[in-house]
Amino acid sequence: MTCIDTVVVDGKSLAQDIRSEIAAEVAGLVAGGHRAPCLAVVLVGDDPASASYIKGKRRASGRAGMESVERTLPGNASQADVLATVRELNEDDAIDGILVQLPLPDAVDPNAIALAIDPAKDVDGLHPVNSGLLMANRPGLYACTPMGILEVLDRHGVKLEGKRAVVVGRSAIVGKPVSLLLLHRNATVTVCHSRTQDLAGVCREADVLVAATGRARMVGADWVKPGAAVIDVGVSVIDGKLVGDVDLEAVEGIASLVTPPRGGIGPMTITMLLRNTVAAYRARKGV
Ligand code: NDP
Repeated sequence: MTCIDTVVVDGKSLAQDIRSEIAAEVAGLVAGGHRAPCLAVVLVGDDPASASYIKGKRRASGRAGMESVERTLPGNASQADVLATVRELNEDDAIDGILVQLPLPDAVDPNAIALAIDPAKDVDGLHPVNSGLLMANRPGLYACTPMGILEVLDRHGVKLEGKRAVVVGRSAIVGKPVSLLLLHRNATVTVCHSRTQDLAGVCREADVLVAATGRARMVGADWVKPGAAVIDVGVSVIDGKLVGDVDLEAVEGIASLVTPPRGGIGPMTITMLLRNTVAAYRARKGV
């Protein structure tokens, strides 16, 4: 029986380090006579989870010395209303990044909203121009969670070149973009989904395993190759407790590294949003 000293990633502390770097960068811009970067968040409806996510994002941007504004629309807002808000933010030169909080009400098509955001302000990286730039391995604004995952791997010295990476999940916001980021770093990438056969067997081949399905504790001990780095993106709530796609206790002692469901990838996602906002500001302003 393998027993490895598994590193349980402290995403909160890592995120804090990076946020301090971003705050120093913003302070430098302001000291140089520039205004602070500004993030606009759009909330449609009164979903408490979305409201709490938005509060966290605004608080994080304030702590990094950045400005933020919020546009709140009622839950019965039409697609035209949301599009009008996005266009107004696109045209406002004081706004550098635009984030429309998902999920949106049924009457609003998230693809139409993503398409309406100015790609230069698309800090969620969901506009086809940005996903196209990612596919072409050219600079752009990439989705935040995938970038946070790469940051965790890099800052823990996980080697990617020539390694087998398996990504479970193929969404536009996590699975596909993280697969491309891993591919661009010369990993050999397999993307799995709900129709994959022998999923456990495929996962067992991974040196780097990314689970992004929302299926609670799906990844157990027999899915993980000894010494693999395991990134848990999934979030489920079971009996009021936050649970990931990975059975953390089961993989400890097998994986070399694992991210926990709380304080793992979540704080890194918000941090990458801040970084994207600064990058969007710099690119637009040429500073
Ligand atoms: P989606 O629901 O869009 O995608 C889920 C993916 O998982 C799909 O590709 C689906 O396959 C696949 N899948 C579902 N069930 C299985 C299964 N039994 N076996 C194999 N594959 C399966 O989710 P997201 O990508 O948006 O998010 C994934 C999870 O990550 C969620 O729990 C979400 O809450 C969390 N999340 C966490 C973030 C964070 O910051 N911590 C940020 C973003 C997301 P198929 O395509 O075939 O349907």
